[in-house]
Amino acid sequence: MSSETQLPMPSDADLRRLVHFSAGDGRIWLAGHRMVLLHLGGLANLRKELIQTIGIEQTRRVLKRAGYESGVRDATLARQVRPNASPFEQFSVGPQLHMLEGAVQVTPEVCEFDLEAGAHHGIFRWDHSWEVESHLRDFGPQSEPVCWMLIGYASGFTTGFFGKKFLYRELECAGCGHEHCRIEGRALEDWPDGEQLMEDYQADSLLVRMEDLQADLESLRVSLSPSDDLGELIGRSKAFEKAIALLRKAAATQVTVLLTGETGVGKERFARTLHAMSPRAGKPFVAVNCAALPHELIESELFGAEKGAYTGAGAARPGRFERADGGTLFLDELGELPPAAQAKLLRVLQTGEVERLGGTQTRKVDVRVVAATNVDLEAAVEAGRFRRDLMYRLNVYPIKIPALRERVEDIEPLANHMLRHFMALHNKRVAGITDRALAAMRSYAWPGNVRELENLIERGLIITSPGQMVDVEDLFAVVPAGPGVMVDASGELKPSNVGDIESLYEELQRRGLSLDALEDGLIQQAVERAGGNLSAAARALGLTRPQLSYRLQRIRER
Ligand SMILES: [Zn+2]
Repeated sequence: MSSETQLPMPSDADLRRLVHFSAGDGRIWLAGHRMVLLHLGGLANLRKELIQTIGIEQTRRVLKRAGYESGVRDATLARQVRPNASPFEQFSVGPQLHMLEGAVQVTPEVCEFDLEAGAHHGIFRWDHSWEVESHLRDFGPQSEPVCWMLIGYASGFTTGFFGKKFLYRELECAGCGHEHCRIEGRALEDWPDGEQLMEDYQADSLLVRMEDLQADLESLRVSLSPSDDLGELIGRSKAFEKAIALLRKAAATQVTVLLTGETGVGKERFARTLHAMSPRAGKPFVAVNCAALPHELIESELFGAEKGAYTGAGAARPGRFERADGGTLFLDELGELPPAAQAKLLRVLQTGEVERLGGTQTRKVDVRVVAATNVDLEAAVEAGRFRRDLMYRLNVYPIKIPALRERVEDIEPLANHMLRHFMALHNKRVAGITDRALAAMRSYAWPGNVRELENLIERGLIITSPGQMVDVEDLFAVVPAGPGVMVDASGELKPSNVGDIESLYEELQRRGLSLDALEDGLIQQAVERAGGNLSAAARALGLTRPQLSYRLQRIRER
């Protein structure tokens, strides 16, 4: 690198001639660039208020980038103004304009160039920095350098001058108690922490941050203050609206409610919403999963126990019924309740009184029971596993929560809601869900219902890169349906032509099934699994509803 230490800098008379006050039309020119003559007090105040509003970190970035833009513009003048001068004299246009513009006094200490290799190393001393002056006045001495706009200018000018990335940084700053500011510049790749220094110059960092905050705020608002009394319940499909209408009617009364539906449809959410809509909203909501508690503990859990009632009952404790007094008790997976507990539950429902295990005293409780089951209670009664009288007592007001495949139009709003929730939870932002992924979700059968959708959305968010959209492959780890089905390029689920066709053919041969019999069997199976919902069955088979109806008609006529 040729070291040019023929400091000081040349005369700046050529630069002074570039400044032109055109007061008649309200403009000041520096060659072709419009300038503004500001009061330092006004600029200092802007700087101060920025720090107080968006913080020191963001202000530093904003001002560095503002300075950088000025530096880049001044660099366009350097070779234009001194076309035949030495590299040092050309480069000096930057420091000299910086002085002329009133930013700082600049004294070169080291200034080396290798123009062919595009290499440069510079050390300059700064005095009378306007930023030091205003920062010290407003905030006192700092531990980190404060000449942000100035250092941005030096970086921008040098980058513009060489046409490649150069970064200046302050080795010392008068804002930190040093006698002078001293800055050093190198090419980006010559700084060991160059990438980190560059971060301040990423033009959109503040905007991205603000967008992030905006998104976080939105998710918080969604999760903290639901837009209506439905809270977490989201949907607009007929099946969903029907269940909600029943829920609303039950809410105002004391009726015992039985929620039925497949596993994962969100029965507890419905129960919580019912509680929140009811006059009991201010009182406890207590949930018990009857399948999760060991049989020997379930009675003491529900009804409480006196001291010494059973081994391990060290102290008297109230049961969930007592704890739910005045509120709602949610009994999930009620079909799993053992016979002895069924008898006790029936008595509590009939008398409104509980008796703790090992106790003799009865206690009045005012509890609304909401029970839920995903097994067919009638069948459990027939099989002798559930008391008929208890079933009648509970089955006063049944509400069937629809399966997700019966409310396909709710999938998109649900998925978007969950995505916002998980973005806030995992502090990660993606751009949304592709239409292809939504189409695949609409054709999928969702055996695990809303809970399965929730799991897939969380997984999809984690797999997708920030800023990208969640796509089919991010959601479904494997082909999203039974064998012989695949997602095609448009995101539709289509029967696969490859794979298990051979073994399927062998199975047909082995069973001696005809093609017609296979088709009839598949169609009947699909209708059965969809609970008689022909639209859902048609989707599961990759048919339109009219196509399915036609084939069903044909089966009946056979
Ligand atoms: Zn400084």
